[in-house]
Amino acid sequence: MADRYLSFTGTAPGRLLSRRLGLPRPAPLKRRSAARPDLDGGLLHLTAGRSGLGLAPVLARTGLSTGEPGDANDTGRPAAVVLDATGVRDVEGLAEVHAALHPVVRSVAASGRIVLLGSPLDAADHHQAAAQQALEGFSRSLGKEIGRGATVNLVRLTDADAAESTLRFLLSPRSAYVSGQVIEVGADATAGTEGARPAGPWDLPLAGRTALVTGGARGIGEAVAETLARDGAEVVVLDVPGAEADARRVAERLGGLALPLDITVAGAGARIAEALPDGLDVLVHNAGITRDRRLANMPAERWAPVLEVNLASVLRTTDALLAAGTLKRGGRIVATASIAGIAGNAGQTNYGASKAGVIGLVRSLAPRAATGHGVTVNAVAPGFIETKMTAAIPLVIREAGRRMNSLAQGGLPVDVAETTAWLAHPASGAVNGQVVRVCGQSLLGA
Ligand code: NAD
Repeated sequence: MADRYLSFTGTAPGRLLSRRLGLPRPAPLKRRSAARPDLDGGLLHLTAGRSGLGLAPVLARTGLSTGEPGDANDTGRPAAVVLDATGVRDVEGLAEVHAALHPVVRSVAASGRIVLLGSPLDAADHHQAAAQQALEGFSRSLGKEIGRGATVNLVRLTDADAAESTLRFLLSPRSAYVSGQVIEVGADATAGTEGARPAGPWDLPLAGRTALVTGGARGIGEAVAETLARDGAEVVVLDVPGAEADARRVAERLGGLALPLDITVAGAGARIAEALPDGLDVLVHNAGITRDRRLANMPAERWAPVLEVNLASVLRTTDALLAAGTLKRGGRIVATASIAGIAGNAGQTNYGASKAGVIGLVRSLAPRAATGHGVTVNAVAPGFIETKMTAAIPLVIREAGRRMNSLAQGGLPVDVAETTAWLAHPASGAVNGQVVRVCGQSLLGA
């Protein structure tokens, strides 16, 4: 599973050889650690167009030192640049985007962050819509060229306070493998709903809350359980009875509970509800399987289990836990899609269908779950993540999958876990119906 090429290009001969041969030169990503929870460096706050966002107090609360070029706080090499382009309404405004970023883009620190802020597209003003949509092409193009492990994302928002959890995530080492994304943050879909509890402190945001992770015995699910436990949640690690020993090991390490259960069995939702008499705050649908084969060679026996585990059981358990009231108000559902559900993948008609189905579920259910249950519904869509699932891919295809993204490397389970933790955050009620790719800006389906 180790990425030997990444280690090799970190050595002097490796750097020389890869440069000479024009091979990808992935930068080691700076991920979050307890010792280094924040980006190291300052934050540059730029504006294009006339903004009424009132962003400064929210940025100040990130803890990053903020400044304008030439200020006392100007570090010369910002770790993060936020460009508020919410006021851009026409092509002239786009020139201001260029003017703001052109002089600073080269100075952004390695593993730095550029976050563009845009406004929702105005259906009554096609000039505004054109300019705001242009930011999408701009940010995705910049993500592809910036290099050195830096990321570029666009957030469309109307209220800076409602976007605080999103900005904190994107302006931190937790979002190391999230690039080229467009995230829409509305008004808090669940705030003020009766029974919803206010967001807790920024460290330990999930204290006093329960999170269930399906397929939590290993791989991405294990990392999700670990990250939610780090954030204070009591975790319930659900996995098939055959993986009970591993599920128990993970649960014990995290001070949580193991729940041996095949999510495809009849009444699985009721079994979960029974096991959680005090209710559930965060439901992470992570369990998933592949049974790859081209459609012409794919018998129904390889089609059915993939649709059953990855999609049908997700639909059934979601319905059952909402209907039973197990998911509390202010709750969060995070489902796991895949870039294969967006771009498609040869040999994965079953898997691609199931993961696209998850996206359909999220987009349709999100507004109704918010109004009816005070629960948000979002998806993570991982790209190439270094797990047992991807270690089983034949070498040449594996190596191609790993490199075909703007960061030229595979992600780690923790990257999906950190994204899940942001969506599960009690302060993320304004993030609803989103599908966020954790793929280093994969070239597939980009
Ligand atoms: P993995 O195979 O390492 O782990 C999956 C876990 O799900 C296993 O512990 C397995 O026992 C459990 N599981 C399978 N069927 C189950 C069932 N019926 N009931 C309960 N548990 C069940 O996989 P992973 O790589 O960690 O992937 C996790 C999720 O992320 C999956 O949904 C997968 O499709 C998705 N994903 C992974 C990648 C990647 O690159 N690894 C990319 C895109 C999407």
